[in-house]
Amino acid sequence: MPQPRRTKRTEREDYGWVISFGCKPTGQLRRLKVDTDPAPDTSPIEVPCVCGETHRVTVSPYRRRRSADEAFDLEVGSLDELR
Ligand SMILES: [Zn+2]
Repeated sequence: MPQPRRTKRTEREDYGWVISFGCKPTGQLRRLKVDTDPAPDTSPIEVPCVCGETHRVTVSPYRRRRSADEAFDLEVGSLDELR
């Protein structure tokens, strides 16, 4: 028996995904927003951080949805831009 599909009601509430990473020089946790689901490829990315350095970040498959008003430090359309 096929599972009933959920309605696409939540589709308009798409604020991208958030990947957190540690910024060692400043000791802070930064947030990278990505528009497309990062799960299909979790190979490391090179993030040009706001501190001026580029951090190598391991992408966790346990990414999470960004909420509407959640702040972020950087934004990309796809993680491929950082590889
Ligand atoms: Zn940094």
